[in-house]
Amino acid sequence: MNRTILVLIVLSLSVFGCRRPVFVYQGRVMGTTYTVKTILGSEQIQSDVQSILNRMDSAMSTYQENSFISRFNRSNGNDWFPVSEDVVRVVYCAQRIAAQSGGAFDITVGSLVNLWGFGPGERSTKVVHQEKIRRLQKDVGYHHIDVQLNPPCLKKFLGGVNIDLSAIAKGYAVDKVAEYLDSLKIANFYIEVGGEIRVRGRNPDRKEWQIGISTPDELGGIQKIISLSEKSVATSGDYHNYYEREGVRYSHTIDPRTGRPIMHKLASVTVVHDSCMVADAWATAITVLGPEEGYNLALRNDLAVFMIIRDKNGFIEKKTQQFNDFLEE
Ligand code: FAD
Repeated sequence: MNRTILVLIVLSLSVFGCRRPVFVYQGRVMGTTYTVKTILGSEQIQSDVQSILNRMDSAMSTYQENSFISRFNRSNGNDWFPVSEDVVRVVYCAQRIAAQSGGAFDITVGSLVNLWGFGPGERSTKVVHQEKIRRLQKDVGYHHIDVQLNPPCLKKFLGGVNIDLSAIAKGYAVDKVAEYLDSLKIANFYIEVGGEIRVRGRNPDRKEWQIGISTPDELGGIQKIISLSEKSVATSGDYHNYYEREGVRYSHTIDPRTGRPIMHKLASVTVVHDSCMVADAWATAITVLGPEEGYNLALRNDLAVFMIIRDKNGFIEKKTQQFNDFLEE
């Protein structure tokens, strides 16, 4: 952001009210946008935030052919493949949540994501044949990879394994920016990357940060407002990235058990957690499992979860007890 915009934002807020001035940094990364709000303003923060996010992007993207993940996916497997510490931290967490969700969350779904047209290739909405799914599914399963923290390496046991970190890496990127702002001793901030959010302290009105959860339809209204101060929140849903064919909705969340996009009525899952990476992964795991199984997984893991489920009259809501702590009174 250039100096003029930065100063304008500060002036407009501090002159017209007793609110604290807030500095807003924005940009693009991982095929989406980011926004950071702090009460400390400097161009150094803008460039540091952008370079942290660019580093995560170029390490973990399947849209950049020289990323660790793209090169790992092209490798034929069996040897330890050196990657960055950030990548092993993300894969380590992904494997833990894969095990806890019975494989519903599974980063080895990359080739199925691509098959259904939700990966880096061109968007294809043509019919997918069961034979093709069956062939690709033999390389899907979180037990087909291993991760080593020191030295940071990944290993695949089948050459065709293709990992995709889209359901967890944005959350990790948010946590990395939070780590950086903490290192500057900034006590109040808001970080959002592609809808995954983490906040600290209070907003410019000295209140908890108010976060809106979208209604999962084309109108995109606000379904619920929550108040957070030292938490992260991530939402997964079938209403952003999908296509319809012959009246059937195909969304980008793949059930590794069937090799197909989810077909149940759970339209949106929001998870509140200390870590944005963990919230991001749980939101996808619960989305895969659907309204009942997903809700039981949330209860078993004491998660603060809010679900929006499609029904004949619109939407119904379902939440765990832990989620009530964050509802706006
Ligand atoms: P979430 O619900 O958080 O995740 C859904 C995604 O996770 C799916 O799109 C799929 O990729 C994957 N997934 C599906 N099923 C499962 C499952 N069962 N278990 C685990 N994962 C699953 N998009 C672009 O268009 N251009 C880019 O240049 C680009 N670069 C990116 C770089 C990085 C490092 C990452 C992480 C993503 C990038 N993306 C890019 C993708 C985009 O940012 C979003 O990640 C994507 O749209 C999904 O985010 P979401 O929050 O909507 O969905």
